[in-house]
Amino acid sequence: MKIDLEARSQEKFGRPLAELDNPTICTMLEDLVREHAAVMPLNDGKRRLYYLSAEFLIGRLLTNNLLELGIYDDVKSQLAAAGHDLGAVEECEVEPSLGNGGLGRLAACFLDSIATLGLPGDGIGLNWHYGLFHQKFIDLQQAAEPDTWLDRQDWLVKDEKFYTVQFGGFSVKSCLYDIDVLGYQRTTKNRLRLFDLESVDDSLVPPNSIDFDKTAIKKNLTLFLYPDDSDDAGRLLRVYQEYFMVSNAAQLIIDEAQERGSNLHDLPDYAVVHINDTHPSMVIPELIRLLVDEHSFDFDEAVSIVKNMVAYTNHTILAEALEKWPLKSLQTVSPRIAEIIEKLDELEKKEYGDNPDVAIIRDGAVHMAHMAIHYGFSINGVAALHTKILEDTELHPFYEMYPEKFSNKTNGITFRRWIMDCNPALSSVLDDVIGTDWRTTCDLTGLMAYKDDDSVLQRLDDAKDKAKISMRDFIWKNQGVHIPEDAIIDVQVKRIHEYKRQQMLALYIIWKYLDIKNGNIPPHPITIIFGGKAAPAYTIAQDIIHLILMLSRWIAADPVVSPHLQVIMIENYNVSAAERVIPAADISEQISLASKEASGTSNMKFMLNGAVTLCTLDGANVEIADLVGDGNIYTFGTSSKEVEHLYAENAYHAHDYYEKPGIKLLVDFITNPSFMALGNAGRLQRLHDDMANKDWFMALLDIEEYIQKKELVLRDFEDRESWLKKSLVNIAQAGDFSSDRTIRQYNKDIWHL
Ligand SMILES: *Cc1c(COP(=O)(O)O)cnc(C)c1O
Repeated sequence: MKIDLEARSQEKFGRPLAELDNPTICTMLEDLVREHAAVMPLNDGKRRLYYLSAEFLIGRLLTNNLLELGIYDDVKSQLAAAGHDLGAVEECEVEPSLGNGGLGRLAACFLDSIATLGLPGDGIGLNWHYGLFHQKFIDLQQAAEPDTWLDRQDWLVKDEKFYTVQFGGFSVKSCLYDIDVLGYQRTTKNRLRLFDLESVDDSLVPPNSIDFDKTAIKKNLTLFLYPDDSDDAGRLLRVYQEYFMVSNAAQLIIDEAQERGSNLHDLPDYAVVHINDTHPSMVIPELIRLLVDEHSFDFDEAVSIVKNMVAYTNHTILAEALEKWPLKSLQTVSPRIAEIIEKLDELEKKEYGDNPDVAIIRDGAVHMAHMAIHYGFSINGVAALHTKILEDTELHPFYEMYPEKFSNKTNGITFRRWIMDCNPALSSVLDDVIGTDWRTTCDLTGLMAYKDDDSVLQRLDDAKDKAKISMRDFIWKNQGVHIPEDAIIDVQVKRIHEYKRQQMLALYIIWKYLDIKNGNIPPHPITIIFGGKAAPAYTIAQDIIHLILMLSRWIAADPVVSPHLQVIMIENYNVSAAERVIPAADISEQISLASKEASGTSNMKFMLNGAVTLCTLDGANVEIADLVGDGNIYTFGTSSKEVEHLYAENAYHAHDYYEKPGIKLLVDFITNPSFMALGNAGRLQRLHDDMANKDWFMALLDIEEYIQKKELVLRDFEDRESWLKKSLVNIAQAGDFSSDRTIRQYNKDIWHL
């Protein structure tokens, strides 16, 4: 593709490129990409994949698209010749706020890989006007504000398609926006298709608050992803949102299949629907409804058609995250869908008997996952351990009924974004050492041959330094905090949740603070970086953020400790922040309570960028440990088997651990009088009491071993050569976690595109 930015600048703005400012150049480049993508044909094939997800955490798109079109270097040098820096231009793009965490980011990596492999498959979701929320820190606490990304975005293209969605008692009209999804070095594309509500009303949302009228369904459906569901109105709104999403999706799927020649009796030959967790699971009854009510199909035939075309990915075993909606709510949102679900429940009971463990409707509640397993053809977990737990315990009765439906698909990450875009220094070292094939094959194992090559190790070290400079610059600009040049960078970035155990790292920080106070000065300064949002209704998670921000402030104000220990919490952690901080990390913290993290994907991003992992044997950490081998990872903590046993027997008593003097000292630090005086005493007291008496995710169980392991990691970091070898092995073994591998497996075993 040939481009001439100078000519374009003259044509569009009547001015030389040199005179344009960065935001103007950014818009110009976005337009250029969009125009180019607009004329690319879609990936073609009889059977098309529809990947349904409540979230798509796609990140900024400019860099990625320039790279995928193969014009990144050309654009960069043309800009440089006119005195501009592409890096600074990229910073002008606002990040779309269409997702929340790992599940949404997975969907985004998958779209990239599906397009890169040239498979016909679109994402379908909703166009969230204000995202999850924009996180701010005010008085050392999280404040949630609407994320106004939509006002400043430049990628959505309005499609002519629109549908009517019938709710109980009223209907709404939808509209559709597309974002083109380009693959790496491809001339064909896919799309991310985002439905919106035609009658949506942004003015329901006040400027600095995420409170709005949850009952104004005709105006609010696409305002926020995951609105507060701690009250009935919030829960009902979520059901409305989900039905709105899948009704549009199902209508679109049937339309497109007919356009491509389906008579609908053969619908599964034309469409496979993948549901990312259960939020889109009502697509099952909705497809049945359309076939029966709009196309006069016999109910049984409609059921058997749909059974052959929907596949489901389970993302969690946390009971509170497995969706159950009151049948009454479904009856309000769509009486017809509720009726169909009742029929599906009856059919299932007729066939398999009235076993409450596998019932779709139980005690007046609809179990969405159960519906998806009975009436889909495939269910998969997202890491080997997770799938095994599903099969052996959480979903065991289903596994006995339908062993052939179960499979594992270990998550992956796209190498385009998570190394090529975000870590140019490391990418070019890899090009020089093992050649450029890895950019398409994602095979980095050739690097293993250089494990003992000092010059290669030195170059990896230099690349890490460059990434650290860029990260330090980012933190300085965004938060006005200076990170020492020689600091060890220790990172835990992910949603704030008790099972992920940010509170355990906070206890380590307290331990280290006291240790330094006692005169044990570490050889290098240590910078511990957190980032992540907490659900506004999740009180303990908010308390954990407060504790982290307190420790950050407290330690920064201590003249003895602050030169050696620093705590930073990134505000509004998102993909753009991840792209800066992950390449710079030395230590990757993956310390969830074993059995609770389904897979994790940031663990894979860190590994690929040469961080060494400190982890429990949970999720995909188990597979990382197998790949890199003993000396190249640090594992600790109670095993998932033992954890499951403790829960089953009710055998974990936090207070017994709290009473150990070494642990009590750390937990009680949270409520020491001067600390309480500085912060929000209510939050600190509540967190303290929860940890000392409940500690549902067993941070106190693993804290001693965690401290020991972390001290070992810090000691080992000082042996540069041996550390760099570990780093090299981690990079070399990361190829298995390319989402291209994951998508090939989905296609081979499930989609058959
Ligand atoms: C990868 C990613 C996640 C997922 O992180 P986990 O540690 O796997 O939970 C969340 N948020 C962002 C912005 C990410 O890039």
